[in-house]
Amino acid sequence: MKKNISTFIGCDNEYEESSIAIWGAPFDATTSFRPGTRFASAAIRRESYGIETYSPYLDMDLEDAFIFDCGDLELPFGNVKKALKMIEDHTTHLLDDGKIPGMIGGEHLVTLGAFRAVLQKYPDTHVIQFDAHCDLRNDYLGEPLSHATVIRRIHDLTGDGRIYQFGIRSGERSEFQFGKQHTFLNKYDFTGLREVIKQLDNHPVYFTLDLDVLDPSIFPGTGTPEAGGVSFNQLNGTLALLRPLNIVGFDINELSPPYDQSGISTAAACKVLRELLLIVNQEEI
Ligand code: MN
Ligand code: MN
Repeated sequence: MKKNISTFIGCDNEYEESSIAIWGAPFDATTSFRPGTRFASAAIRRESYGIETYSPYLDMDLEDAFIFDCGDLELPFGNVKKALKMIEDHTTHLLDDGKIPGMIGGEHLVTLGAFRAVLQKYPDTHVIQFDAHCDLRNDYLGEPLSHATVIRRIHDLTGDGRIYQFGIRSGERSEFQFGKQHTFLNKYDFTGLREVIKQLDNHPVYFTLDLDVLDPSIFPGTGTPEAGGVSFNQLNGTLALLRPLNIVGFDINELSPPYDQSGISTAAACKVLRELLLIVNQEEI
């Protein structure tokens, strides 16, 4: 007999044999508009059985990769700092065990916890962010820790020249000005990414994918939908470009199942995660 344990499809390997470890960070305490991302990891696992493990795009199969699903962290909703520390500690544990950590948010703020751990291990880490939003506010309603400030907090840690933002189409004027001076902020789509990939060469990269970079027509199930986004095929084709990079940690975030009435957003998130796992995987499969 086997225990009834639900994993993302094809991610049922043992911990010791796995090179990638994924987990859920069901946290949405600072979401500014419509909460619900805390339900994303459970929904993604459940709906993942509606997609195939095989990717015809990459001609690779999750069944051949070695990926462990840790389940969800139990995070305290009322305590943002503690939740981030728990995510950081969990990520550190996985890194110490030689795994590539991959997190399913949650709101985008969860990235800060995982990134802190990755930066500790790889001080030269660069960040690639796909997102509709700059996330560069210094505070949101006086709160320095928010999904609207997460990339600004990451910039506090990396300094200039190590953050690459793509798909951005929303933010305050001051955020865009900050981006101009301190990050590589690319509006609307993925123009310029090929050059960035060349430049990054073998530097360690943390990849954070805020799924609201997708257009709300394919991805309505999110807290702050932003019209004018990229298509699924644009995103998927772009993810494939990331394969040569040395990705040492990654996350997807901001799926909000309560706003996903038709289920298409969750289905899209599952497909994106499958592709991403296959791309991050460094073993020959
Ligand atoms: Mn966003
Ligand atoms: Mn974001």
